[in-house]
Amino acid sequence: MSIIYLNGDYIPDHEACVSVLDRGFIFGDGVYEVIPAYHGKLFRLSEHLQRLQNSLDAIRITNPHSPQQWESILDELIAKNNVDENKGGDLSIYLQVTRGVAKRDHALPPDIQPTVFAMANPLQAPGKTDLQAGVSAITRDDYRWLNCHIKAISLLPNILLRQQAIDADATETILIRDGEATEGAASNLFIVENEIIATPPKGPFLLPGITRDLVLEIAQQNHISWEESTISESRLRNADEIWITSSTKEILPVTKLDGKPVGNGQPGSMWHKMVDLFQAFKQSLR
Ligand code: PMP
Repeated sequence: MSIIYLNGDYIPDHEACVSVLDRGFIFGDGVYEVIPAYHGKLFRLSEHLQRLQNSLDAIRITNPHSPQQWESILDELIAKNNVDENKGGDLSIYLQVTRGVAKRDHALPPDIQPTVFAMANPLQAPGKTDLQAGVSAITRDDYRWLNCHIKAISLLPNILLRQQAIDADATETILIRDGEATEGAASNLFIVENEIIATPPKGPFLLPGITRDLVLEIAQQNHISWEESTISESRLRNADEIWITSSTKEILPVTKLDGKPVGNGQPGSMWHKMVDLFQAFKQSLR
């Protein structure tokens, strides 16, 4: 049993109720965030809250809380869930804001209260097996919409695209739009060529990942060459290394793409370097 946050209350998950007329339920009309909490501390909170603000602005929902209010809501959620078996453990905080409850109509209803929901789940760092062997990925056409920078709860294309990876015994689907790789179904994309890290520039075709930005920040601080540049399908297929990043998966090396080895088929030296720096960065915040 976990304690969730819903519209001001902390209650057991099985007791939480949302109206069937909530526009999140009816239309997928809402946005979300996933924030790691390492040892009870929210990781990169201000960056996540800024992205939440951007998503809310983009879909015309007024942010129901200030950053300080969000912080105290989430801190209390962590405190209520960081007990006994999970004491000291890491959590993944999921929060979502939907437009609220209204008679079903596409038009935006004036003056309704957004529905605010948050939950905490145990966060499992990627296992040693995945890290030592790397993971497989497949490629598919990116048939999502043209506003992928909004972290919208309506994730049907992402779900169906990710499922194709699962069906193929792979971990992630890397998406290709007009001959260029954009990101994964639930992750950002990096390649390494001649010891230079490259990731596609931000824009409407990809989610501006918090982990993505942190990887670039760490690269910059440690004099590792990096660039933001479009990644054509042929660059992707010829890369020395491919990585995928997200808040829950951190930095995963992709060692097989569409059944073929990436580079020498092992996690690469740049990945080893980056993952050590990333772990050191996490430790430094304790
Ligand atoms: N792109 C997509 C489509 C995602 O769903 C995610 C994570 N949920 C990411 C990128 C990675 O973002 P972050 O590093 O902020 O988790």
